[in-house]
Amino acid sequence: MKSAAVVNYAPEKGSVEIREIERPKIGDDDVLLEVANVGVCGSDLHQWTADHSWPVNYPVVLGHEFGGHIIELGSRVSGWREGDRVVSETAAVIDPQNPMTRRGLYNLDPTRKGFGYGVNGAMTRYVRVPARCLHHVPDQLAFEQACLTEPCCVAFNAVVENSRLKPGDRVIVLGPGTIGILCAAVAKLCGADVAVVGLEADRHRLSIAEQYGCTAIVGDATEWAKKVDGLGADCVIDAAGTSITLKIAMQLVRPNGHITKVGWGPQPLNFSLDPLVQKNVTLQGSFSHNWPIWERVISLLASGQLDVKPIIGGVWSITDWHEAFEKMHRGDVVKSVLKPL
Ligand SMILES: [Zn+2]
Repeated sequence: MKSAAVVNYAPEKGSVEIREIERPKIGDDDVLLEVANVGVCGSDLHQWTADHSWPVNYPVVLGHEFGGHIIELGSRVSGWREGDRVVSETAAVIDPQNPMTRRGLYNLDPTRKGFGYGVNGAMTRYVRVPARCLHHVPDQLAFEQACLTEPCCVAFNAVVENSRLKPGDRVIVLGPGTIGILCAAVAKLCGADVAVVGLEADRHRLSIAEQYGCTAIVGDATEWAKKVDGLGADCVIDAAGTSITLKIAMQLVRPNGHITKVGWGPQPLNFSLDPLVQKNVTLQGSFSHNWPIWERVISLLASGQLDVKPIIGGVWSITDWHEAFEKMHRGDVVKSVLKPL
């Protein structure tokens, strides 16, 4: 029995199409998941438009933000049952002996391979998932929202684990995409005063940031950054990732402040990093997430403290992937969600 899948089949721009694929066979430590919903990530768009900077195992089924029901269990899997409602982490392949893995930081194992680029992802009906990736989803949390646990975990790691926020801190988030808005939402949960900065074309997405109680700024955020004591923001989160945004972050951050870079950008910088030295600023990267972050974020989603509904711009059938990708690519919606056939 075959199912429709959104397949990225070659490195050239636009190499994504619907293909019929076989139901995957699972290994002893895996489960088979019937996908309920799968989010479209900026990285899925980057693979579609071929401006990504990571190796892809073509052809590959896209999609790494997903949840669904367990329908089959491998022989060595314990603690899970058929019918369980789950979401899955993204580190589909890790080396259990890697020193980072042994410290619980398997997200930083350099040999890690994720769904949607290293192994087949979830933009299809059935996906094979190692049982160690699974987390329970409480009944009150719908899959349309639960499938976005992954980007929420990216934001939680950037804001809570990799920044140092105190209640009342002034935080500037550069970039009103999914990760930027979710970073802003998590910073609000930490008690920060938050502004989200975008371009003229980002007005719609910035209005969604306002629904989280953030200040929306088009263009220059200097005035907001310096409003209290003239020195700048306590923390700047770069969720855009182009070279210029790091330069802006260095201008907006206060002396002894913190910059967290969670957005990717393969271009060379071509400007001086001296403001980091002069201002005694910490520049911190943030990548992915691990088990305790997932458990905490699921609790926040289930309790309603963190609400992803404002960012969801629509739910499309996977055969309508092109429209869902296009709307997100144009910034008409912050996040597109797909539903398998
Ligand atoms: Zn993602």
